[in-house]
Amino acid sequence: MERETLEVDVLVVGAGPAGLCFAIQLARLCRKHGLEKSILVLDKAPEVGHHQLSGAVLDPRAVHELFPGARAAGFPVQSEVTDDALWILGAKGKRELRGWMCPAPFHNHGNWIVSLSETVRWLAQQAEAAEVQVYAGFGGDQVLYDAHGAVTGVRTVDQGRDKKGEPKSNFQPGMDVRAALTVFAEGTRGSLAKALIARQRLDEGRNPQLWAVGVKEIWEIPQDLRGAVYHTAGWPLDGSVYGGGWIYGLAEHRLSIGFVMGMDHGDPSFDYHATMQRWKTHPALRALLEGGKLLRYGSKTIPEGGLYALPRLHGDGFLLIGDAAGFMNTQRLKGIHLAMKSGALAAESAFGALLRAERSGPLPGALLADFERRFQESWAHAELWKTRNFRQAFQKGFLYGFLRGGVDVVTGGRLPGRLRNASDHARYRKSGGAIRQPRPVFDGQLTFDKLTDVYHSGTVHDENQPCHLLVREPDVCVSRCTREYGNPCQHFCPAAVYDWRGGSEGLVINFSNCVHCKTCDIADPYQIIDWVVPESGGPVYIGM
Ligand code: SF4
Repeated sequence: MERETLEVDVLVVGAGPAGLCFAIQLARLCRKHGLEKSILVLDKAPEVGHHQLSGAVLDPRAVHELFPGARAAGFPVQSEVTDDALWILGAKGKRELRGWMCPAPFHNHGNWIVSLSETVRWLAQQAEAAEVQVYAGFGGDQVLYDAHGAVTGVRTVDQGRDKKGEPKSNFQPGMDVRAALTVFAEGTRGSLAKALIARQRLDEGRNPQLWAVGVKEIWEIPQDLRGAVYHTAGWPLDGSVYGGGWIYGLAEHRLSIGFVMGMDHGDPSFDYHATMQRWKTHPALRALLEGGKLLRYGSKTIPEGGLYALPRLHGDGFLLIGDAAGFMNTQRLKGIHLAMKSGALAAESAFGALLRAERSGPLPGALLADFERRFQESWAHAELWKTRNFRQAFQKGFLYGFLRGGVDVVTGGRLPGRLRNASDHARYRKSGGAIRQPRPVFDGQLTFDKLTDVYHSGTVHDENQPCHLLVREPDVCVSRCTREYGNPCQHFCPAAVYDWRGGSEGLVINFSNCVHCKTCDIADPYQIIDWVVPESGGPVYIGM
């Protein structure tokens, strides 16, 4: 099969905040120093921003550094934060902590409420103005290596195969994009980054990454809560699950609400979507949403492991940035500013490496190691250092996590030592399929079933394409998983993709519902599900 080959100097996989900030900063440095380099950004979404989902309250520090005067230049801000508080929810009531009573990580004055999809669209415009090529609709299928194991680029997904994998009349083989430097900025649990980390053992000696699932809805409500940022702790979680909720007031009477849940709870029957729906039935939430209507839905995983879970960030021919690496401050519930900063720092290192490279071909890892040094000397590292043991502490029990987290906040992370943690999937208890967690009744007004919510995510996939959810050993679902764990995929997927029917039907995978959250790739107890980039489609997270 003949494949087209495209040669560029620098390839960025993923048009999120990290990838775009990288490309913009590198293009600026090249222009300033008269270095001509071609920079290409690929994104799997049909349009830039469609697959970007976040809370999203943005610490604007990186924006101010990279784009002085960004607000005046049209940086899209829904609202500055004008009010913040932490709500401790009991089964019926709530206690509100404000001012000095509210723990410091929940203080948000000075931050901006944004839509991540709008943010990256603005960043893509800046990138194009800096002469970066941004191609949407090109997902990465595999990493390309040379004979010495250096990364030489990426092969994009074939287009025009049918559901059996056979070429259709419009078949187009994916192209090989070759570059001296490939930057992996695919976002959370990037499929190429996952393969690269495993092949090159980039996580050797690091803590296993800890993950959370965020389930989000946008509502239109009668009240104007623009500028409000409220976080919730407590109900409906019982202390066995790390997590909590958010309520952010957007412009035009819209409200962003969501619930984030750690994946190391050990309960194979845990249903993230159902928990978020149940949370909305609390009187405090019910009162906010009364008379409103659901506009949008989405879900995404979040890397919560922090500094000790970051893999090696460089190697021959590549850099890893943003959520694909795990740049996220769980204590502050923020990652966009770290993604942007990681992109900017990586660009400075890449520029130096491009200047110093003595021959063509993949940039030597020795030159790209400068990124680790720049990161360690940056405010991003200082911020993550203070919270380096925060999330791991909660694996030792809620009380320990709460106390240790409190000491870390007060002392700025001065307690010595490194806490270890187990992988999320390794903590499942063999439950034999028992369902522990109460499920809400979906009333279609305040609470919605998964399929109704998927409809509100705008998700579409052409059904006549290969399934992008690869269960590598389907026999395990029948021979072991039913007996040991009760097929948790039917519970953890927030989009009703996995339909466990048992008997001769077994597992039915409705891949067209997939909202690209990557939960299944992480939460499967046997680690036999591979989420790969489909040839087209996905959610449409406009305004999310
Ligand atoms: Fe998320 Fe996997 Fe379900 Fe898709 S199939 S929505 S990636 S859990």
